Amino acid sequence: MDQSQRNASVTYKPLLRSSAYIDGKWLDSTDGKTVDVTDPFTGGVISTIPALEAAQIQQAIDAAQRAFPAWSRTPARERGKILRKLLELINQHRDDLARLITLENGKPLKEAYGEVDYGAGFVEVYAEEGQRALGEIIPAPVPGRKLYAEKEPLGVSVAITPWNFPLAMLTRKFAPALAAGCTMIAKPASQTPLAALALAQLAEEAGVPAGVFSVVTGRASLIGDLFTKSPIVRKLSFTGSTEIGVQLMAACAPTVKRLSMELGGNAPMLIFDDADLGTAVDAAMIAKFRNCGQSCIAANRIYVQKDIYDAFTKTFAQRVAAMKLGDGLEMDTDIGPLIDEAAVEKVNEHLDEALAGGGSILAGGRGEGRLAPPTLVTNVKSDALLTREETFGPLAGIVAFETYDDAIRLANDTPFGLASYVCATSGETIHKASRDIESGMVGINTGLISTPYAPFGGVKLSGIGKEGSAHGLDEYLNLKYVCHAGL
Ligand code: NAP
Repeated sequence: MDQSQRNASVTYKPLLRSSAYIDGKWLDSTDGKTVDVTDPFTGGVISTIPALEAAQIQQAIDAAQRAFPAWSRTPARERGKILRKLLELINQHRDDLARLITLENGKPLKEAYGEVDYGAGFVEVYAEEGQRALGEIIPAPVPGRKLYAEKEPLGVSVAITPWNFPLAMLTRKFAPALAAGCTMIAKPASQTPLAALALAQLAEEAGVPAGVFSVVTGRASLIGDLFTKSPIVRKLSFTGSTEIGVQLMAACAPTVKRLSMELGGNAPMLIFDDADLGTAVDAAMIAKFRNCGQSCIAANRIYVQKDIYDAFTKTFAQRVAAMKLGDGLEMDTDIGPLIDEAAVEKVNEHLDEALAGGGSILAGGRGEGRLAPPTLVTNVKSDALLTREETFGPLAGIVAFETYDDAIRLANDTPFGLASYVCATSGETIHKASRDIESGMVGINTGLISTPYAPFGGVKLSGIGKEGSAHGLDEYLNLKYVCHAGL
């Protein structure tokens, strides 16, 4: 398939955009500057998006401010109806959205379908949850007064999202924001802006009013600067690297914005001697290789206790070697291209360092171009580079451990604390480990923990705030206290 045939696999043409969406209009950059969006498998151009000018970003902020009063006063039930209509449209265009995600991100199509469903789940959850932003009536401490607290939307919110889940990382911000009554401007990653623009198209079709949701594209530092400095913007929700998140937090300090920060991870997986072998291998496969390893909750370090070590590595190696590397658009591909060549170089660097430290390859090997094969390296030293930095690729490194205390010490030896995984059968080990591991989320005997129904988020350098569940709605609400005297 040449690039034009690949692009034509998105059959509903309005989903494949080359303009930004501001105040209900599709706009190009006023100075004509553009950025190419390329297909990671072929390197070919899928679309060209505008590198917007500062005045156009300001236009989106002003439109969101103008749209806020009417949207925030629209009954939550009516907002929910619009979100349900959007859910219907996402489901109706599921095939096209999945192909669009694979085209711009490279991930295997079967995983892109998973992302569409996961992303749609946030729209489904918040269409309902927005109607349950309940307040409190507080027993008055003195006579003649009525005290209550009610939840009100924060105002204009902005979302900055990464390339690894181009649709779902946005819907988990967009859906609670709109359900709460906030307006939102999204800035998707420059490598994968097309899913966000497709969402804007469907939101428009679903009846989201002009200005309530805009998508701006172009220079990250310019957009970040305008978002963070603006006193109109009351909320920034960011998903991406800790490095950029920290900069944005500092830039938001002078205007004291509410922040949600979903940042980098370095998830440990602990496999104890009493773990069920099949369960542990299944959990490691999904925790490590989902999204070609390009996930913030990917098991970055796999620690295996000494008695189960040989059996685990042998079975895991067979499964890793059986995975198919190739074009994400083919339904039987397990591992697609990584986002760019630099991502493959990083995986190679981590592999080379682990091997130089005495590691042995049981499956896979070095990557080339944008393709990195699923790889398993054992006998990795506990201070290897791959245990300290997010590899963000399909490289699994196994470190042996002896005691429970060793495992917890190794797991917590990181400034990050997003997800962690434990495979064991002893109830005592499971409960102790979930208590002792410093992370925002713990998967027990599973490598798949993400769901719109549960609070997702990290501790330490992995961020602040929660996405998903009722807690995700609160991130867009202020609890206003009212004291009515003289009664
Ligand atoms: P990134 O470089 O931090 O980029 C994320 C977003 O920030 C992109 O939209 C990027 O725009 C934008 N950005 C970059 N510099 C900016 C600036 N100066 N001002 C404003 N925005 C700026 O991260 P990434 O490499 O795309 O994503 C991978 C990271 O995200 C990993 O660390 C991963 O763990 C983390 N992540 C965390 C979660 C979570 O829920 N905790 C989920 C997914 C990913 P451009 O694309 O235009 O540069």
